[in-house]
Amino acid sequence: MLTAEVENFPGFEEGILGPDLMNNMRKQAERFGAEIAFDNATAVDFSSKPFKITVGSNEYEGKSVIVATGASSKWLGLDSEKRLRGRGVSVCATCDAAFFKDKTVVVVGGGDTAIEEALVLSKFAREVKVIHRRDELRASKFLQDRAFKESKIEFVWNSTVQEILGESRVEGVRLKRTGSGEESQLACDGVFVAIGYKPNTEIFKGQIELDKRGYVVARDETRTSVDGVFVAGDVEDPRYRQAVTAAGAGCQAAMDVEKYLERP
Ligand code: NAP
Repeated sequence: MLTAEVENFPGFEEGILGPDLMNNMRKQAERFGAEIAFDNATAVDFSSKPFKITVGSNEYEGKSVIVATGASSKWLGLDSEKRLRGRGVSVCATCDAAFFKDKTVVVVGGGDTAIEEALVLSKFAREVKVIHRRDELRASKFLQDRAFKESKIEFVWNSTVQEILGESRVEGVRLKRTGSGEESQLACDGVFVAIGYKPNTEIFKGQIELDKRGYVVARDETRTSVDGVFVAGDVEDPRYRQAVTAAGAGCQAAMDVEKYLERP
């Protein structure tokens, strides 16, 4: 829902807007009898069957549940970042890199995600500047080597982004050197924030097994630690995180639920 043009979902030759893709999926599910409640689940109780999902003052019961709450990108927490989101500020190079053809873009972060984003962007942008708060990357050696060899990628070490500049579109960033505190400005057309992801699993703590980063632990494809509770998508997948892989996992989970419900 947060992305603009989706260019990498199969079947849409010309691409499709994220909200339109979601709307199509909703209508398709409803055609087969799905009922959708648009609200936030606030608590779950998987300790006995039927499983219970609390949504505000309502409670839903299910013989089986598929957890598909996704993951959220971490943001820097700047007001300017919020204001310019979708106007040059992004968290998804795979989704948005094509908008920055021959432009200058900044990537914030030093992990695998940041370097992957920088490499994707280097195929489109004129120059990519990776801004990292330390003087060495956390990313894997393999990705580092690729980034260091890519002439379009430059590194700005020991620096943090204090503010994203621009009124209606990104025009630059204000940087601060760690240590000296010295400030400077850098002109750019886009800012990609790549400082990690956070799975949306707050309400599942103590209910199903989560790994140390908070992702749902999946076993045998879509099963969780509770028999009858299944999982699909970014909430258990820190690796691929694509709409098409999440949709595929959703299909797997639905088929596993069907088998589970048929069990005597
Ligand atoms: P990550 O490994 O946690 O790295 C986050 C990066 O952002 C770090 O360099 C961190 O700096 C920096 N950072 C965090 N908060 C910040 C802030 N507020 N301001 C400025 N910088 C900040 O996250 P990730 O890169 O998303 O990777 C997450 C996991 O997925 C990792 O296990 C990674 O290996 C995996 N992953 C794998 C692949 C792949 O294999 N191809 C691709 C993507 C992700 P510090 O280094 O100073 O802490």
